[in-house]
Amino acid sequence: MLDQEWMKDVRALVGKEYGRVDSWDPVNAPMVRHWCEAMGIENPAYTDREQGALAAPAAMLQVWCMEGMHLNNYPPGSTKENPYEALVMIEAQGYPSVVAVNSELEFDRPVREGERLYYTTRLDSISEQKTTGLGTGFFVTLVMTYYARGAAPDGGDERVGTLLFRVFKFKPTGAPAAAPEAAPAAIPKPKRPRPGISDDNRFFWEGAQQGKLLIQRCTCCQSLRHPPGPVCPNCHSFDWDTVEASGRGTVYSFVVMHYPEVPPFDTPNPIGLIELEEGTRLVAQLIGVAPDAIRIGQEVQVEFHSFDDDLVLPQFRPVAATPDAKEPA
Ligand code: ZN
Repeated sequence: MLDQEWMKDVRALVGKEYGRVDSWDPVNAPMVRHWCEAMGIENPAYTDREQGALAAPAAMLQVWCMEGMHLNNYPPGSTKENPYEALVMIEAQGYPSVVAVNSELEFDRPVREGERLYYTTRLDSISEQKTTGLGTGFFVTLVMTYYARGAAPDGGDERVGTLLFRVFKFKPTGAPAAAPEAAPAAIPKPKRPRPGISDDNRFFWEGAQQGKLLIQRCTCCQSLRHPPGPVCPNCHSFDWDTVEASGRGTVYSFVVMHYPEVPPFDTPNPIGLIELEEGTRLVAQLIGVAPDAIRIGQEVQVEFHSFDDDLVLPQFRPVAATPDAKEPA
């Protein structure tokens, strides 16, 4: 199939070499040990220093130059170029989807503890337009070449391996013929996870449906307990009833979830361990307060809010709330 006019600009990039991406850390024993542990590899060459200089497992090659938890957070000195610019240009023409189809690693030699790696990227090829079971688009192949700094006999950088990475950038089958500015189809917002409801905790969720914060109480020794359970941990009695808590309490502890970003929750997402004035604690989302304004000991009050038409959750709002705080979803 003949290329459309716009594709000529994309194909002009084939063969382009993109700049260096550095590694945050040299090849090091702790990362090798963690990787071997995670992969279930027991090979003394990777862990036992008495065997001589530690080598890193060959399959770790890509690991050394990864950006870490934050997207595109590469070490200072790394290129600012986007080696995926061809994908961006193809996407702009109405090919929104991408799937990785092939990854091939080749190793020239083992890398060793203390070596500093970097890689460069070359846009290797772009296929003719193809139609597969997924849709219609282009196979785009990139090749990353890895080097160890100063490791060559003449003091220059030495090539240690390559990573070929091929993706299919495509318009899904059945998708409307997209205008260049067309956005990918809207994905319905995921619902909140549902609580696991059992005979032990059903009262709590039924109470929430009625706007009541019900706490389990041992009818034998009168102690309160939460989360609900069948047996009193204090006196081992199976007999219990419930009391309706006032909903007033204080922040005993809290966390603010930043990562991972899990739909439907907005991040940052503040979660409190609330000490109720009745004397037991429960975990709930904090609302109406900026995450950096939450304080241990802060007074809070329960509110009940509905989600996805059928779920009612207790959430806690500081009694003297920050007026312009963002409400988490
Ligand atoms: Zn008891």
